[in-house]
Amino acid sequence: MPELIAMLHSFVGLAAVLVGYNSYLVPGEGGKIHLAEVFIGVFIGAVTFTGSIIAFLKLSARMKSAPLMLPGHNYINLGAIVAFLGLTVWFVLAPALWLLVLMTVIALALGLHLVASIGGGDMPVVVSMLNSYSGWAAAAAGFMLNNDLLIITGALVGSSGAYLSYIMCEAMNRSFLSVIAGGFGSDGAITGPAVDYGEHREISVEGAAELLEEAKSVIITPGYGMAVAQAQYPVAELTTKLRAMGIKVRFGIHPVAGRLPGHMNVLLAEAKVPYDIVLEMDEINPDFDDTDVVLVIGANDTVNPAALDDPTSPIAGMPVLEVWKARNVIVFKRSMNAGYAGVQNPLFYKENAQMLFGDAKVRVEDIIQALAMTRV
Ligand code: NDP
Repeated sequence: MPELIAMLHSFVGLAAVLVGYNSYLVPGEGGKIHLAEVFIGVFIGAVTFTGSIIAFLKLSARMKSAPLMLPGHNYINLGAIVAFLGLTVWFVLAPALWLLVLMTVIALALGLHLVASIGGGDMPVVVSMLNSYSGWAAAAAGFMLNNDLLIITGALVGSSGAYLSYIMCEAMNRSFLSVIAGGFGSDGAITGPAVDYGEHREISVEGAAELLEEAKSVIITPGYGMAVAQAQYPVAELTTKLRAMGIKVRFGIHPVAGRLPGHMNVLLAEAKVPYDIVLEMDEINPDFDDTDVVLVIGANDTVNPAALDDPTSPIAGMPVLEVWKARNVIVFKRSMNAGYAGVQNPLFYKENAQMLFGDAKVRVEDIIQALAMTRV
C-alpha cells in the first residue's frame, strides 16, 4: 500500500503538469493571473511527480534509503527555488513556451533531489509531505481548469497533509524545516560501523508459548514486518486466546511504525482488534516496567534503544517504544538484519530479549497451535 500510494501521488503531480501545459497551449483566457496559475501549478506538479517516484523507489527498496548528500545540496535547493521565482515573474510579463519548459526541468530535478537527499529515518515525513504536495497540485489544477470542487478538495488534502507532516515531525523529534529542506540539519550519517553487542539468544515456539501462559500482562508492539507477513489476523486470534486465558493484552503503536501514518492501526482494525486495547507510544511507555512479556512483531527501528542511548546514532533523539524495560521480550523477525533506517539494534542482545526467527505470520500461528496443545 505505501508504495502504491507514493505512485498515485506521482500521477496527481503528472496530471497537474499536463493540465498546465494544456491550458497554456490551448488558446483561451490568457490573463496574467492565469499565466501565474499555470506556472505555479506546473511547478508543484513536477516536484510532486519526481519526488513521489523517488519515494516509491525508496519504499520498495529499489533505491537505497541512505540520503544523497551532494556538496552544497542546500544551495542547490535554494537556487532552484530562486530560479523558479525569477522565471515566474518573467513568464507572467513575457510568456514563452521555453520558459515553461525550462522551469519544468528545474522542478523535476528539484523533486528528485529533495526526496533523494532525505535519509530513511525521515521518510515518514516525506510520505505525508508528498501527500500534501499532491493536494496542492490538485488545487493548482483546479485553478487552471476553473473547477471549484478540485480547488476545495485539493486544498483540504494539501493542508491536512501539511498538518500531518508537522505531527509526524513532532513524533520523531525532527524539525519540520530540516526535513522539507531535504537534509538540513543532518550530517548524512546513516549506518555506523558494525558494533559487537555480544551474542543474541533464541527461543523456541514452545518456549514462547510457555512464557505467555505464565504471564499476567502482555504488550504487543507491531511494526512493518507484521504488514509484510500479513500477520495481523493470527495476531488478533492470539490476542483473543490470551485474553480468554485471563491475561491482560495491549498493543503499543509507534507513530512511524510501518510505512504509512496509521499503518498499524489500519491493519489491527482490519483484523478486528478492539480499539480500547490499542494504545499510543506515550500512553504505553510507562507500563513496560510492569509487563511480563512483550511480543515485538516485525518491528525494529521503533523499538531501538540506540535512539535514546547513542547520541551518534542516525535515529538519535527519536522517541521509541521502551520494550526492553519489560521482564521478557520476544522479537519476531527472520534474521538479525537492520530495519528501514539501516541501524543496528542493541535490543536483540539484551539479557531479557530472545529472538524467534521466521515469518511473523507462521510463527504466531505456531504459537497459537502450541497454546492449544498445552490446553488439551
Ligand atoms: P522496520 O522497518 O524498522 O523493521 C521491520 C522489520 O520487520 C525488519 O527488521 C525485518 O527484519 C522484519 N520483517 C520483514 N518481513 C518480515 C516477515 N515476513 N516476518 C517477520 N519479520 C519481518 O519497522 P518499524 O515498523 O519498527 O519502523 C518503521 C521504519 O520505517 C522507521 O524507520 C520509519 O521511519 C520508516 N518509515 C515509516 C513510514 C511511516 O509513515 N510510518 C514511512 C516511511 C518510512 P528481517 O528482515 O530480519 O525479517
